Amino acid sequence: MLQKIKRINVKKIPWGKVLVIAYALIIILGAWPTKIPYYIKGHEVGPLGRWALVTFGFFILGCVFFYKPSKKRKMFTKQEKSICPMCEKVFMLGQAPKDQNCPKCTYPLEPLKGFYDRHPELKDIKSENN
Ligand SMILES: [Zn+2]
Repeated sequence: MLQKIKRINVKKIPWGKVLVIAYALIIILGAWPTKIPYYIKGHEVGPLGRWALVTFGFFILGCVFFYKPSKKRKMFTKQEKSICPMCEKVFMLGQAPKDQNCPKCTYPLEPLKGFYDRHPELKDIKSENN
């Protein structure tokens, strides 16, 4: 008999973030300007290079902590077709850019379903052209 074993959902832990934070900390701690020489590929890194690395490390940390995926915009383009409200280009499933913006107009895409109900003015133009 198969038994369902309750396990901690490892997938919920943002491993990507954890790794990036660890990476940034290693850079910062390793390059922190101390009297201990710091080497990259056999070359000693000067104070300026160290500060650059520390800044880079903090920059990465900043990105990790301040980057929040916008929850307001539902990622719909994976589930349904989308359309650009500006140029009316239709994106099939998997065709839409990951950021859900039209590559041409950089305008946020909208779900195709019900699009012409929300924008009847566009519908009129299109039916006239057809
Ligand atoms: Zn467009």
